[in-house]
Amino acid sequence: MDRRTFLKMASLVLAGSGVGPTACQLSAAEESEESYDKESLSMEKPLIGVSAYPGAANIGLMKAAGIGWIRHVIPYPFVEGAGGVLSDNYLAAKSQAEAWHDDGMEILGVTPMLSLIWPQCGEPGSRTSLDRYGAACAWLASDLRGVVAAWQVANEVDWPPFNGPLNLRQACEMVLSGARGLKRADPSLVVGTNSAGMARSYYLLGYLHGRPYGEEDESGPFDYAGDDGYYGTYQPGGPERWDERIAEVHALTDLPVMINEWGFHSEGEPMTAAELALGTHRACELHKLPYSWGGGHTPEVQAEYITAAFGAFSQHRDKLAGLVFYCWQDEERCHYCGSPGCPVTSRQGLLDVEGRPKPGYYAFRDAVRAFLSDAPTGA
Ligand SMILES: [Zn+2]
Repeated sequence: MDRRTFLKMASLVLAGSGVGPTACQLSAAEESEESYDKESLSMEKPLIGVSAYPGAANIGLMKAAGIGWIRHVIPYPFVEGAGGVLSDNYLAAKSQAEAWHDDGMEILGVTPMLSLIWPQCGEPGSRTSLDRYGAACAWLASDLRGVVAAWQVANEVDWPPFNGPLNLRQACEMVLSGARGLKRADPSLVVGTNSAGMARSYYLLGYLHGRPYGEEDESGPFDYAGDDGYYGTYQPGGPERWDERIAEVHALTDLPVMINEWGFHSEGEPMTAAELALGTHRACELHKLPYSWGGGHTPEVQAEYITAAFGAFSQHRDKLAGLVFYCWQDEERCHYCGSPGCPVTSRQGLLDVEGRPKPGYYAFRDAVRAFLSDAPTGA
């Protein structure tokens, strides 16, 4: 296979100074360089990360499990339009990213979600919105320089709730604009986006990674192809499906593959066939999960699942740029519906609500150790 280097490792530079540059100050910030060791970011040693929420990240336990990266959503930075006063949400997210980075973690930033950038970003689908999103991402790359080393542009734009008002073509154009903005500000950044692992993903993969970008820059602004999946929870099957999926995404894109979200709930009843027939979107309403795997959604089966998933990942060490588990810790309430009894987004953690490791934490720790110590397979 083409072992394209996922980073330009020898020539990585990050500018150190520019705190709070405006978009028009980007070129000045780019001139300030300091060397930055990103040895951990290569296919020889894929990044190991988790999604975590502010205030719930026990860094010591993360490091003990071989986790070096935290995936962190960055909100649209401006209160209005494409510059000026910064939003409180942005400042809080930046401060959290800096705190985690100071504690020795690397940050995989998620650029502003396409569902949460209006009306600041202009009229949905307009040229103005494309330009503003690109400029905002360039600004973020500069403002978070030295803190955020890798980016995921937006999130699962092939899943309608994360598109905002955009259709999939418009959403892909926004991703492209955002990715180009990041690279314009700092070519050393690792940049990609993630598909939701559903039928619509093939459009996203083809639109962004199947097009001709030119001989000089054949993969465009993308260093990896990201893919999310919850086989056994939101999709049928189990962790063994990662085997075929990683090979497929790599073959379609010829890029290193990042799994930006994967996991298995430790609690939650599966829907009945009759419930499922009416749609997986009813999960929160029913307080159930669409699918199950093995012995069901329990802490013990979550641990088994993690071990089995790493078995599939190990088959493709040579194709993987990173693995980001969703998520670090359980929460009292579901993010989507706000209900304390809904497992949909509240029972996916390696730690329970009180921050105690579940069996899955130990399975994760042991699997990462074995995964990273294995020599890459394949040619
Ligand atoms: Zn819910």
